[in-house]
Amino acid sequence: MPSPATPQELLATLVGFDTTSAKSNLALIDFVEDYLKGHGVSSVRVPSPDGRKAALFATIGPEGVGGIGLSGHSDCVPVEGQSWSSDPFTLTARDGKLYARGSCDMKGFIACVLASVPRFKARPLKEPIHIIVSYDEEVGCTGVRPLIARLEQDLPRPRAIIVGEPTTMAVVDAHKRIDAYRTVVTGKEAHSSLPALGVNAISVAAALVGELDRISDKIAVRQNDPRFEPPYTTVSVGTIEGGTAGNIVPKHCEFQWLVRSLPDAEPNEIPRDLAAYAEKALLPRMRQVTEEAAIDTETEGSVPAFKAGPGSEAVALALSLTDANATQAVSYATEAGLFEQAGCPSVICGPGDIAQAHTADEFVTIAQLDACMAFLESLAKRLSA
Ligand SMILES: [Zn+2]
Repeated sequence: MPSPATPQELLATLVGFDTTSAKSNLALIDFVEDYLKGHGVSSVRVPSPDGRKAALFATIGPEGVGGIGLSGHSDCVPVEGQSWSSDPFTLTARDGKLYARGSCDMKGFIACVLASVPRFKARPLKEPIHIIVSYDEEVGCTGVRPLIARLEQDLPRPRAIIVGEPTTMAVVDAHKRIDAYRTVVTGKEAHSSLPALGVNAISVAAALVGELDRISDKIAVRQNDPRFEPPYTTVSVGTIEGGTAGNIVPKHCEFQWLVRSLPDAEPNEIPRDLAAYAEKALLPRMRQVTEEAAIDTETEGSVPAFKAGPGSEAVALALSLTDANATQAVSYATEAGLFEQAGCPSVICGPGDIAQAHTADEFVTIAQLDACMAFLESLAKRLSA
């Protein structure tokens, strides 16, 4: 039996693996698998379709009953272009804060879960604790989906899941939905001295972006759910590219945009309104010049909103474990909506502040890790009572 490791030691190991979403997470998964094996816990790997990554599912305690899932993603966002005060892949302690990429989002939670394994093992659990480690959360929550599909088949389905994203241990029972779109404008090339012979794809794209701003302003006036900050659905254009030279009327322009919707909002409203505007205000003129003119919007991915069901047992459990009496809602998306959709009541509660996630000098405080350890200890106590 290996000597117990502290959350800080485990976090130092976990952040040492560069698991930026574009890279493999297999070295981290190997480590977690070996660590669990060292404590007599076997795990099941759920590989990605290309085999470069894997999710992990492990169970501690009795089989055949629901149990509680503790879920975290192993990937993190890139450090490129960020100015760090210390190496982002070396855990560095300063003033009670632990700095590293992923320390807050969300290897801190995984470290606490792993550090708690000997304590979970030491208790006569009446219900199991399931450990879930996913990948590709930061690129559309895609990596947990094959694992969720197996909850219907050969993996036990937890009766509740705690997603340990950074909430400073507050209980979060709702988040917005994300829809990612790409709009492609096809115009017609012409010499820039004779622009009327062409269809300027960049000008059309600019009109569409302007319309998106108008649509989003209208929604901001109409919607108001004070649980969310901001309290309405937002639209944001993230990239745009087009054109080949200053003296050519551009044929091609495309832009990517993201909608973050309130859980009760109609997610298709904005692309529908944009398409209606294109059909009415832009395409007729474009088609007068060329039959090839087109404005196409495709979905690049979506993450469902999360809204815990009424009387959710996951929410009730987290509230009682944290001694809190109120829940919160957040504007960032997590895997909780997918678990909830698959019939596993979920809640979000984990160490660290989302304000530090994705930033240079990301950190989690030692106090937050301590609070999470106490939370997991209370969970184990509850499940063995
Ligand atoms: Zn995260």
